[in-house]
Amino acid sequence: MNITFIAPPAAGKGTQSKKISKKYNLEHISTGDLLRNITDNSIKEKIDKGQFVSDEVISDLLKQKLKEVGPKGYVLDGFPRNINQAKLYEEMLKELNIKLGIIIVLDIDKEIALKRITGRRICPACGAVFNDLFEDTRAKIEGVCDNCGHNLVSRADDNEETFEKRYQIYLKETAPLIEYFKDNVYHVDSSINADYTFKQIEKIMGGVYDKY
Ligand code: AMP
Repeated sequence: MNITFIAPPAAGKGTQSKKISKKYNLEHISTGDLLRNITDNSIKEKIDKGQFVSDEVISDLLKQKLKEVGPKGYVLDGFPRNINQAKLYEEMLKELNIKLGIIIVLDIDKEIALKRITGRRICPACGAVFNDLFEDTRAKIEGVCDNCGHNLVSRADDNEETFEKRYQIYLKETAPLIEYFKDNVYHVDSSINADYTFKQIEKIMGGVYDKY
């Protein structure tokens, strides 16, 4: 079973991907994380400014990762992000004999997404995510990870200016994928909280697991 997310920045695709991969024993593939692990400065600069890395760079990285993952199902978090990437992805799947699976679209208002971005704090040691601006996801001690005690950090691209750029790119380039993949698309309301979002995803998974 493969799941791909289409979501505006800060809709919670990273959080949901982690929850799904844990519950359904799927590999979590985050193209943002794949890129952040590369030390190349030109890539780092693009990410920090909210710009896209080239379609070729990202699709080569993903292809390599899919080969490593093998037959295990996966949750794809961050790709494809435009129609060209969708076409490259379909070619890749054909070549590697992998099924597309389902596409989950996380629906969220822009204002809520912005709050999630500016309040987001991440643990660089264990990957846990917190948010200073929402009571239910705030770290118990400000700036300290609940899980491992490491100091929390903000991602360099988590600021209002970068959000606005990324949001506009999402509307222009990524949102058209909803129509492109319409036969496989499932919509989920991601504006309330992570648990409610996950409940809706579990419901979808219950209904489609055998079909894909
Ligand atoms: P994310 O962690 O998914 O929010 O991605 C962080 C950043 O990585 C994005 O703002 C882009 O700069 C870059 N990135 C991630 N996935 C892609 C992709 N599929 N195409 C181009 N750039 C990407």
